[in-house]
Amino acid sequence: MYRTIKIKLDKSNELIQTARLWNAACQDVIDYGFVAHDYNKTRLNKATYKDLREKYSTLPSALLQTARDQASDMLKRLKYETKPFKHPFGAVRFDVRTMKVFLESGYCKLTTVFGRLRYDFQLADYYQKYATWKVMNAQLKIAKNACYLNVQVEQPDPETIAGDKRIGVDLGINNIAVCSDNTFWKSGPVKTVKGKYQYLRSKIQSIGTRSAKRKLQTLSGRERRFQKDMNHQIANWILSKSYDTIALEDLTYIRNSKKNKKLGKWSFAELRSIIEYKAIAIGKKVVAIDPRYTSRTCSKCGFQKKENRNGRTFKCKNCGFQIDADLNASRNIATFSRTDRSRLPVNQPIVAG
Ligand SMILES: [Zn+2]
Repeated sequence: MYRTIKIKLDKSNELIQTARLWNAACQDVIDYGFVAHDYNKTRLNKATYKDLREKYSTLPSALLQTARDQASDMLKRLKYETKPFKHPFGAVRFDVRTMKVFLESGYCKLTTVFGRLRYDFQLADYYQKYATWKVMNAQLKIAKNACYLNVQVEQPDPETIAGDKRIGVDLGINNIAVCSDNTFWKSGPVKTVKGKYQYLRSKIQSIGTRSAKRKLQTLSGRERRFQKDMNHQIANWILSKSYDTIALEDLTYIRNSKKNKKLGKWSFAELRSIIEYKAIAIGKKVVAIDPRYTSRTCSKCGFQKKENRNGRTFKCKNCGFQIDADLNASRNIATFSRTDRSRLPVNQPIVAG
């Protein structure tokens, strides 16, 4: 299946000049093909390439080829009845040779008359679900106040996985994510980076000038992108595991206590939504469970008591089972997701399978 997503880029002289030359080259091919009654790409190329190469010496040959392809398509469509007209600032066609779009990271590289240039963009929330799709081609449009890249993305239709192999994921502060298969995404390195941002922020804040305000804005944008990029990495890591269903805690229960001085307010909501849309795209399921008692229940014998947990260690008062507290929670999340036991009253022991 295909989708087209619209990306807003800053208007730049480089893009405008590229569009101007590209459209002019395209029109030249049209002019030739219309007279010659020919829209065959190979023949058009043979007849026009050398002249165009000289006339538009700054236009990279890969762009010259897309201009020729565009001319060929327009000639074919109008069957020489009317001469196609390419607007001087009409849409520019980009293919895999002339662009690279990184939807998840929010930037693209476009071949222009000034070389290959990088442009950053913000992918709208409603396009996030296509961020992992394969980028096929794009059209650059020059508008009054901005440039738009209409990107065509493709993905094979997903088949929902029939199996029901489940993994439980506990999201939190000491470890951003802990999976019931004994793997951890520790928050240490992230805390270091977040701490650096915090330090820079407090330093700039104390200055208070207008340029300091601008710097703060740049900084917070960078921090947001860092967090988002990290959340994508974590989601990819979880989804790359060979499980069919991912069990998470229900977001509405995520407590305020999951804040930390250095980690700040990590966006678990963002992480969850990324996991969800990526899972759908690959046919995996995500289930949310009531997170109460996940941290105080023994994942081995099901005994439930607050005192089972002591800081980062879990030690069962009943069977003596000892384990990392977050890992214990993640195993419970996997177990609870198979039943509706998590909705049972507090004092009723949960017997894990
Ligand atoms: Zn136990």
